[in-house]
Amino acid sequence: MAYAPTLFSMTFPKALSLEPTFGGKPVDVLSIVAWHLGDYEADGKTYSLSEYAYLYGFAKFALDQNSYEKLRKMWEHRAEYLAGKWRWKYRQRDTLIRAGQVALEMHIDPQKWTFCKTCCGSGALNSRGSGVRVCDKCEGSGMRERPGSEFARFIGVDEAAWRRLWSERVNQLHKECAWETEIFEHVNGKVAREAL
Ligand SMILES: [Zn+2]
Repeated sequence: MAYAPTLFSMTFPKALSLEPTFGGKPVDVLSIVAWHLGDYEADGKTYSLSEYAYLYGFAKFALDQNSYEKLRKMWEHRAEYLAGKWRWKYRQRDTLIRAGQVALEMHIDPQKWTFCKTCCGSGALNSRGSGVRVCDKCEGSGMRERPGSEFARFIGVDEAAWRRLWSERVNQLHKECAWETEIFEHVNGKVAREAL
């Protein structure tokens, strides 16, 4: 559900440094996110997010580094468990861990793996004498799909192994760390039952 994080980001300013104000007082983004991710009661039942989704929400929407570190460690163990369950063969544990890292980062910080390196994501280049021009590598979008060779190098396999095996494995791991839907539904439920 690709639109979930976008809607969520529209509800919350994504960076703590923005220090938005409400009624003249600075708003603490962490506490706003904490409220939205917190438990709520409805129909005699308590609704709670899974620990993964809870940490993910703080890491993504409050840019909370502690939550991200905790989530990253939990996700490493989970990726190893899944690799065992799926009977994946691999030589280096580190390759699996890094594949898991790519999958997680594509959710938490998708731009890290899609921004155009030529123009640093701005879509524009400064050319000497003639001012600013549109970046010809990404045609001004600021986004460019990374070549397989870059992923291969990052996880420590050759390009053939990336294409044959690891590209699809990263996709599989990527699906397993998709907590956006869970968060989105939780936030909708909470907001519907407990107005701020
Ligand atoms: Zn570019």
